[in-house]
Amino acid sequence: MVVRVGINGFGTIGKRIAAAVSKQPDMTLVGITKASPDWKAWFAKRYNYPLFLAVPEKIEDFKKAGIEVEGTVEDLVSQADVMVDCSPEKIGAKNKEVLYLPKNTKAIFEGGEKASVADVSFVSLCNYDEGVGKNYIRCVSCNTTGLVRSLYQLDQAFGIERVIATMVRRGADPHEIKRGPINAIVIDPPTLPSHHGPDVKTIMPHVNITTFAVKVPTTISHLHCVTVDLKNGATTEDVIDIFAKSPRIILLSAEKGIRSTAEVIEFARDLERPRNDLYELAIWLESIKVENKTLYFFQAVHQESIVVPNNIDALRAITSTTTKEESISLTNKTLEILEPGIYPP
Ligand code: NAD
Repeated sequence: MVVRVGINGFGTIGKRIAAAVSKQPDMTLVGITKASPDWKAWFAKRYNYPLFLAVPEKIEDFKKAGIEVEGTVEDLVSQADVMVDCSPEKIGAKNKEVLYLPKNTKAIFEGGEKASVADVSFVSLCNYDEGVGKNYIRCVSCNTTGLVRSLYQLDQAFGIERVIATMVRRGADPHEIKRGPINAIVIDPPTLPSHHGPDVKTIMPHVNITTFAVKVPTTISHLHCVTVDLKNGATTEDVIDIFAKSPRIILLSAEKGIRSTAEVIEFARDLERPRNDLYELAIWLESIKVENKTLYFFQAVHQESIVVPNNIDALRAITSTTTKEESISLTNKTLEILEPGIYPP
């Protein structure tokens, strides 16, 4: 079966999922929506993506700008087997009520939506099977995806007693000019814990986790400082061994010069990834340290792209087209995701 995919919202996440869908042999992109006829609409045309109106009343603006459309978002929903809703946060829930439910069309939502928008919150490596055959899946946020990727592996291997993690979050995506801070470290949220821990629990409910978060003046990546009390204990080497075998995780070496998120992104640039995307969770090799039963490490999350492979797997789960292993393997191959291991080797 070739799954017909529509994408509602063509911003940071939508354009990346559109590109990733176009690379899948078992999917076809039936269209994307744009809310305004700006330069991004020109790019959608340049990529030959069928373009639909996110807001039908804007038809005159598109006509004036000379940008032809195939129809409205409702037309796109009618043509798609699954919609991926990449609209700004909280709009997805509204779109579900007015667009997807009335047409009985399956939909995938992003991490800006509440968990209650969907039947299941999803990180394919952890709970693919829970997404199989569902009508609505929520792919969790970039921070939660990063946390679940490493914590799931630790939980499987050693058991988790407790997690305390601090998220140093990018203030804005690179293209955003209206967000910040530009010269501050903002405690965000000011009341603790942050929502990230409860979000992890939507997927790993048994994990005892507390999270803190700050926002800093950077646009390229988040950085997490993670402390995990391991139920069964482990050595530093045991943990390195597990991470070095874990799909969609790479261990980056500070000793060989990768000491910052700037160098992590340069690494992705040198891989010649589109838009310097890093789909893999990057864990700093030398930061991994176990003392008694407590593990410490740093990890970097490329916020703009880490959720992309998860969305592709969610499309297969929701349409029951493949098994977990088949989907992860095909997604990894088509997106050229690195084999797990230490980089540079
Ligand atoms: P974005 O602002 O970059 O893109 C959203 C796009 O939707 C914009 O192009 C906007 O014009 C368009 N839009 C506005 N109203 C619309 C409507 N009614 N219908 C359809 N489209 C509409 O946002 P984003 O960063 O791509 O975020 C999308 C979702 O992904 C959010 O839930 C967000 O929380 C989540 N997410 C974002 C990131 C990130 O770092 N940017 C990471 C993971 C998850």
